[in-house]
Amino acid sequence: MQEEVIKSEKMKIVGDMAASVAHEIRNPLTTVRGFIELLGTAYLDKEKKDFYKRICFEELDRAQLIITDYLSLAKPDPEVIEKININDEISYLSNVLLTYANYNNIQINETKLKDNSLIIVGDRYKFRQALINIGKNAIEAMQGGGVLELKTNKSNDHVVIVISDTGNGMTSEQIKRLGTPYYSTKEKGTGLGTMVSFGIIKKMNGKIEIKSEIGKGTEFKLIFPNR
Ligand code: ADP
Ligand code: MG
Repeated sequence: MQEEVIKSEKMKIVGDMAASVAHEIRNPLTTVRGFIELLGTAYLDKEKKDFYKRICFEELDRAQLIITDYLSLAKPDPEVIEKININDEISYLSNVLLTYANYNNIQINETKLKDNSLIIVGDRYKFRQALINIGKNAIEAMQGGGVLELKTNKSNDHVVIVISDTGNGMTSEQIKRLGTPYYSTKEKGTGLGTMVSFGIIKKMNGKIEIKSEIGKGTEFKLIFPNR
C-alpha cells in the first residue's frame, strides 16, 4: 500500500516533467552558443580552442541523449489511441535494438506466444518509446555481453511482455529509485528513460513488476489489460 502511494507521487512528478526537460535541453544549447561566439571572436591558443570545442561536443551529446530518452518518438498531442499487437511490437523492438545489441556483443532471443489476440490499446509511438528505453537499459546493463530475452504471453484477461537481461542487476534500493527523474548510475546517463517508460505504461493501465539479482540480471514484466 505504502509503495502504491509513493509510486503515484512519482507519477505526479512525471506530469510536470515536460517543462523541466525542455530546460535540460535549453541549457546545453545556451552553453554551446556562448562557446561558439567565443571561438569566433577572441584570440585563443590551440589548447583553449580545443577545450571549448570539447565542451560544445559534450553538451550537444547530452542534449541528444535527453531527446533520445524522452521524446524521440513522441508525436504532438493529441495522442492517437489505437489497437496494438504486442507480438508485432516485440519484432519492432528487436529490430530497433539489433545494431546496439550486436555492438555490445549481446544476443536477442524472441519468444512470442503464437496468438493473434495479444492486443492492447494506447499510443503506438509512445509505447515504442517505453519499450526501447527499457530494452536499451537492459543492453547497457550487460557490459561484457549477454542475452536479451523478449517474451510475450497471456494470463487470464491480461497480456504480458517480459524483457529480461543477464546483466549486472540491481539491489532492492536501486529498484525503488527506478522511475524517479534524473536517477542514473551511468557516467553519461540522463536518468529519464525509466521515468518516461513508467509514465507511458501507467497511462496505458499497465503494471510493471521488476525482479533483479546483483550479478545475475533483471526482469521487467509488463502486464496490460487484453483488449
Ligand atoms: P539512464 O539509463 O540514463 O541511467 P534510466 O532512467 O533509463 O536512466 O535508468 C536509471 C537507472 O536504472 C540506470 O542508470 C541503471 O542504474 C538502472 N537500471 C535500469 N534498467 C536496468 C537494468 N535492466 N539492469 C540494471 N540496472 C538498470
Ligand atoms: Mg536509460
